[in-house]
Amino acid sequence: MRVFLANPSYTKQKYLKFGRCMQKTSTWSSLWPPIYLMGVQSFLEKEGHETLLLDCVASEVMVEELVERIRGFKPDFVVVNTCLPTIKEDLELAERLKGYKTVAMGASTKLVKEKFEKSCFHAVVSGDSEDGVLKVIKGAEGFVQGFIKDLDSMPFPSYRDIKIQDYTLPYTGDFLAPINVGRGCRNACVFCMVPVLNKGSRYRGAESVVAEMEMLTKKGVNHFLFWTENFTENRGLVEKVCKLIIKKGLKVCWMAPTRADTVDPKLLSLMKRAGCWMISFGVECLEQKVLDACNKRLSVETIKKAVLETKKAGIKVVAHAIIGLPKQTRENFLDTVNWLIKNDVDYAQFYFATPFPGTILKRIAKKNGWIVKESKGLEECSMRNDHMTCEELVKLRNLAYRKFYFRPARVWKEIVGLKPKNFIPFIKSSLNFLNNWVKI
Ligand code: SF4
Repeated sequence: MRVFLANPSYTKQKYLKFGRCMQKTSTWSSLWPPIYLMGVQSFLEKEGHETLLLDCVASEVMVEELVERIRGFKPDFVVVNTCLPTIKEDLELAERLKGYKTVAMGASTKLVKEKFEKSCFHAVVSGDSEDGVLKVIKGAEGFVQGFIKDLDSMPFPSYRDIKIQDYTLPYTGDFLAPINVGRGCRNACVFCMVPVLNKGSRYRGAESVVAEMEMLTKKGVNHFLFWTENFTENRGLVEKVCKLIIKKGLKVCWMAPTRADTVDPKLLSLMKRAGCWMISFGVECLEQKVLDACNKRLSVETIKKAVLETKKAGIKVVAHAIIGLPKQTRENFLDTVNWLIKNDVDYAQFYFATPFPGTILKRIAKKNGWIVKESKGLEECSMRNDHMTCEELVKLRNLAYRKFYFRPARVWKEIVGLKPKNFIPFIKSSLNFLNNWVKI
């Protein structure tokens, strides 16, 4: 079969469509390769199918041209990577492609299943899309659930149709490759869509993870993002990955997201030696009653300890905080921001609490009459809470960004830490950042 794999882009506003991570590319001034779509490509090629992948976001191809390219390829199937913020346009694209067998994939297919039910998509895949798409190519129709028990059985994502130069880190301009280490999460935070998408967690083996890194280093990539919900949840795997990187002498650096209760100084020191330069933690709000209301299953002290220990290990920290959570007030949110500033946390991202379909937060928000509009993404305020209106939350978010990033000491630290070659990327990403976040 001939299969066209599309990561469509509809406006100048580009979106990252990366599993549950569906946000404006300008949020971090960076774009990541669409590894799930690239994984589907490898899976299909391994089975003997002919494929072409087009990342319209990276190559700035708009819908008209995409449709032309699809026509030129004469595919038997067209796979479309969808996401919540562009759901309307994704469904319209399926309408335009009515003459083809279209397959929708991406986290949105499970979250807004009812929209896909009424759509023109020939088939809709949720779960592990590599397996789901293959089932469709083999004849399955309607809603198809994909599941891969052994993640190591998957071939590495295909980089054949990807230009790695399109995916760089803000500030440094280094090429960045995400490596999907595992899927799912064992926790159940009320605001998170991961438990809706995947119950429990599964991981790859260390040998396979490091082999993928080695393959990419040969393409000139030495900067990686270990993409999974909680990288250090599987301590045995992390230790093995780090030891293998050290043993093989790979000159790589990497970052990973994780949870505060799964790190300690011994592990952090090993990670640092293996090239870890940054860890992101969901700090959400440093107020116990807010964490408890969100079922975060973490104490404020655990989060603070993990952040400080990470910094002490010489690893930079990104703090992800959420504005508008149940029981959150202006005061306890600002206390959180002040703590991050006082403790010199390196980067912070302030998202709005968003009642994503299927989440417990949506049920709570609905019951309390907090929802003010349909949620499109974490960058847009779509619900209030008992203490703050949407307008107040937007002002508070802007204040948090100003307080955190526009301190003379912070700006100075950023500038003196720059290598000359990084100056232009730094200016570009700062302007992007200003344009995106600091709306006063
Ligand atoms: S620990 Fe992280 S990934 Fe897991 S449910 Fe909570 S927020 Fe989501």
